[in-house]
Amino acid sequence: MKKLTILFAIALFLSCSTNPFTGKSTLALVPNSQLFPMAFQEYSSFLSENKVVSGTKDAQMVKSVGQKIAVAAERYLNANGYAGYLQDYQWEYNLVDSPDVNAWCMPGGKIVVYTGILPITQNEAGLAAVMGHEVAHALANHGQQRMSAGQLQALGAVAGNIALSKDPKNQEIFNQAYGIGSTVGVMLPFSRNHESEADQIGLYLMAIAGYEPMVAAQLWERMKANAGGQAPPEFLSTHPSSDTRINNIKGWAPAAKAEAKKYGVTTFKK
Ligand SMILES: [Zn+2]
Repeated sequence: MKKLTILFAIALFLSCSTNPFTGKSTLALVPNSQLFPMAFQEYSSFLSENKVVSGTKDAQMVKSVGQKIAVAAERYLNANGYAGYLQDYQWEYNLVDSPDVNAWCMPGGKIVVYTGILPITQNEAGLAAVMGHEVAHALANHGQQRMSAGQLQALGAVAGNIALSKDPKNQEIFNQAYGIGSTVGVMLPFSRNHESEADQIGLYLMAIAGYEPMVAAQLWERMKANAGGQAPPEFLSTHPSSDTRINNIKGWAPAAKAEAKKYGVTTFKK
């Protein structure tokens, strides 16, 4: 009983963290110092088990857009009193050859874009919308918040000591929480709140990076059109597209551009 109380106290101690974008305090049961090593390990094994595209125009575009989004995140956080928030991030951006329509960002800035999503993103600004959105999920710690209490317990995360094991069950929990994987139907969608947050933060990031935020609305229109027919692709099963979402994005776009102007960004690539 006493042990349980101590564990609970540790969990509470670790749970105080503020989302710098929304100002809301968020649930973060595992500190980055525990979470990042697991993410980095998972990322390396993912890359070694999949076909990374390098040296092509598309691979180059993924890297350059990713870098711009990362710089935008840094500028935004520094300007808002969160210098150092990204200190332990080790940004990496890779294009992986796969027909899956998917993209994700692991904790610590480890990003993968699948070639299958490129026909929908269509251009640099469309890709910036997807990458901004995924980086926003990572910055806001949505993956951890997506795990249930039971899953956190299984990972040993309640004690603030995430298991760095190769246990397939742990890897599955981790991957599900961060939207990684290719089994359509297994992934749970992000909550509507998390999606809204990621949409809004993502728009700010893409605008500060010099991309027209209205392109995000067009992107989600294309996603919606792509959802018809057979089972929806991975990205759409975790990110349901709706008219409400598209309208919200249109409504937020002017504020994102106004924010970007504070950083001297006045032209926006479409
Ligand atoms: Zn999302």
